[in-house]
Amino acid sequence: MSARVLDGKAIAAAIENEVAEGVAALKRDAGVTPRLSVLLVGSFAPSKIYVRNKARSAERAGIRSEVLEMPESSRTAEVLARVEALNADADVDGILVQLPLPGGVEEMRVIERLSPEKDVDCLTPYNMGRLLLGTQPWSPCTPAGIMEILRRSGIPVEGRRAVIVGRSNIVGKPLAVLMLRANATVVMCHTRTADLEGECRRADILVAAAGRAALIGARHIAPGATVIDVGINRVESRAEAERLFGGDPERLREVERKGSTLVGDVHPTEARERAGALTPVPGGVGPLTVAMLLRNTLEAARRRRPG
Ligand code: NDP
Repeated sequence: MSARVLDGKAIAAAIENEVAEGVAALKRDAGVTPRLSVLLVGSFAPSKIYVRNKARSAERAGIRSEVLEMPESSRTAEVLARVEALNADADVDGILVQLPLPGGVEEMRVIERLSPEKDVDCLTPYNMGRLLLGTQPWSPCTPAGIMEILRRSGIPVEGRRAVIVGRSNIVGKPLAVLMLRANATVVMCHTRTADLEGECRRADILVAAAGRAALIGARHIAPGATVIDVGINRVESRAEAERLFGGDPERLREVERKGSTLVGDVHPTEARERAGALTPVPGGVGPLTVAMLLRNTLEAARRRRPG
């Protein structure tokens, strides 16, 4: 069997077009152009790339965006003051605090300070609580993106067994809520799960969000299952790239040229042989995370400034 590859880039592009239409309509009907402020604290290189991509995509969809940089040495009080200024700015619709924050900044205090109506990543306790109750108008970006991939690929969720590996606040936990709302039977796995292989093998839909390169192999996947790979891990050794990508010359060239290539939490060649459908890394869940951020920003603007 060779798995159907679910094209996250194409799905994200379709959502970005819908957002662009929504932005144009809001401008026409209410005279409002949504504005997204992204707060980047510190110099974590991957965060810089993510933030740049988010700002570019926002501009493409007609959303005004700005990246506010603060130094690595910032104190919690300084970051809180910045968040409060954005909360108070009536022209800002969405605030995204790029995580992780530097070690010296108390992450939870910063998240708790965000105004829930501008919290487009849906991380505040208030929005998380409403998500659980089913009354929150938007959902955390990555889990929302996963549900969109499934929906737009025609993969049914209702009545299926969804197994989620990873229980973080930004991916695993909120995804479990969305899956439950879509009437899946949900199983959560983590580092203390007694029989990870067995749990995974019973999944109709298997979501890997553990942050461990190629943790999920053929032995975890039921033949024909849908596998969603959230992980983003860097592979720097040529031998490891050969093991994971079966000698794919493009991947090997990438390691030689750039010094690394990306792999998810799923072993790509093993999964391709066994799964019915699979999201690639890169080009699977990642683009959806950005597309859902734009959709959430539009929704926040609509609600704050209906005209
Ligand atoms: P966290 O590190 O916050 O959480 C990882 C989770 O995986 C934990 O719950 C942990 O269990 C579990 N886990 C780790 N190792 C194992 C293992 N060997 N067996 C079973 N469970 C395990 O990660 P995030 O949720 O923030 O991110 C996960 C991955 O997804 C990362 O690679 C990240 O880069 C990527 N990511 C990708 C996004 C995208 O847009 N594509 C967006 C967000 C994240 P425990 O709780 O017991 O420690």
